[in-house]
Amino acid sequence: MIKNLASRLQKLVNCYVSDEKQILRFYSVDSSFYKKNPKVVVFPKHASQISKIIKFASRENIPIVARGGSTGLVGSALTNGIILDMKHFNRIRVFNNHIAVGSGVSKGQTDQVLLKHRKFLGPNPSVGPYCTIGGMISTNASGTKSLKYGSVIDNLLSIRIIDGQGRLIDLPSNSNISRKINSLLDENIVFPDVTKNSCGYRLDKIKDGETHKIIAGSESTLGIILEAKLKIYNIPRKRELFVIGLDSLESASELVPYILPLNPAALELIDDSIMKFIPFNFDKRIHCLLLVEFDSMVSKSTKKLQSIIPKSWIIYETVKADHIARWWAYRDAALYYTLKNIPKNHLIPHIIEDATIPVQNLQFLIPILRKLVKEYKSRFVTYGHIGNGNIHIRLISSNHIQVNNLAKEFFSFVIAIGGSISGEHGDGIARTKYVKMQYSKDVYSKFIRLKQIFDPKSILNPKNIIS
Ligand SMILES: Cc1cc2nc3c(=O)[nH]c(=O)nc-3n(C[C@H](O)[C@H](O)[C@H](O)COP(=O)(O)OP(=O)(O)OC[C@H]3O[C@@H](n4cnc5c(N)ncnc54)[C@H](O)[C@@H]3O)c2cc1C
Repeated sequence: MIKNLASRLQKLVNCYVSDEKQILRFYSVDSSFYKKNPKVVVFPKHASQISKIIKFASRENIPIVARGGSTGLVGSALTNGIILDMKHFNRIRVFNNHIAVGSGVSKGQTDQVLLKHRKFLGPNPSVGPYCTIGGMISTNASGTKSLKYGSVIDNLLSIRIIDGQGRLIDLPSNSNISRKINSLLDENIVFPDVTKNSCGYRLDKIKDGETHKIIAGSESTLGIILEAKLKIYNIPRKRELFVIGLDSLESASELVPYILPLNPAALELIDDSIMKFIPFNFDKRIHCLLLVEFDSMVSKSTKKLQSIIPKSWIIYETVKADHIARWWAYRDAALYYTLKNIPKNHLIPHIIEDATIPVQNLQFLIPILRKLVKEYKSRFVTYGHIGNGNIHIRLISSNHIQVNNLAKEFFSFVIAIGGSISGEHGDGIARTKYVKMQYSKDVYSKFIRLKQIFDPKSILNPKNIIS
């Protein structure tokens, strides 16, 4: 039992520290299925305060986790120890082709500032303005536009963190830490061959000295992110959106590999349980939608699209910005609509919600999913980033189903066809125990060595990613 933790921390760092019941309750949950009661919540303003707190926590053996917008879906922002709310790390500086931004800045604030410069950030989680830069980096977040503009890891240029020993580290410029990270790399590292992966630590992305990328997807386990530099892009001059109506999820999966060579900026899926919330007069034979957006070589790409699919399949097309935004708002609300479909007592923990598979294997996914849910007497709702092979699945059942067994069967299949058990939401409480299924013993032992470089006493978000 740690006595007077809040007052001791308050004395140590002289910033707002709270152990009020209501505050602790608020921070005991995020957007996942889980709950953990923190002991205190601290609102640091300076790097030196975080460093002091980490050194203190290390002596007292108290876990620490950073908190952004609480929109994470796997419980990786929860702890029984100290929460660092990073909202005061809120500086934004815009440069020609990148942004230097504090980890506590929300995506919404970032977008507003960038809009004035006619720029935007590539990864755009569907939760919109609420998530923060720190949370996005920590989960290696992505979104509808990641098909063209990549996940956070593809856009991260440099990072500043405080590690588990309280050291301020800039990557890639810190040569000592970079050398240690590089020493873990060898040609035996086998990672899933997918365009999006938020499972484990992304050693496969450390090329050409880009050691900062190891922090993307690290879920508060290697360091507390203070600020980072991220690529930005010019807002496209012209965009065109197509809504394609299809008779089944299987037909949609088969069509995707034909659309991808046209270089769409986005290629997304919505199933019929979500479609019913969209105010549009869909033909009864349509059971799912593909949303396809082009934002470069628009005329050429749209002509090609029209030549590879029957005209009748295109149920809507528009170049009007407000109409495009409206359809993306429907897609972004897919999780909300999904949950509206599920009576509270039919909710199943969403462990299998974020797998990514190689797109050439998409045709195998829906049949295996149908077989599994039948076996486990449940149903599913699905939507997501089908152009990346990254499909979100929510299970519905009135039965008490063995969700861990279902997850193991599903993940075995995903891994066997070259996929990742998480494309963008990360491991957290939901999936950490399955990370060992994903990677070889050799790669997993490298993960443990990596953790030791940054956080040898396992103070930072222990039992996440590696257990
Ligand atoms: C409706 C809905 C839709 C979503 N759609 C998408 C989507 O399209 N794509 C996608 O990728 N995700 C999506 N998500 C998941 C979520 O929004 C992202 O994972 C988001 O990036 C988390 O950001 P956050 O600020 O809310 O982080 P939090 O939930 O606060 O934390 C998430 C993780 O980041 C860590 N973290 C936060 N700040 C820091 C920091 N400064 N230093 C170190 N670690 C830190 C936390 O410890 C935790 O491990 C969605 C979630 C919801 C609820």
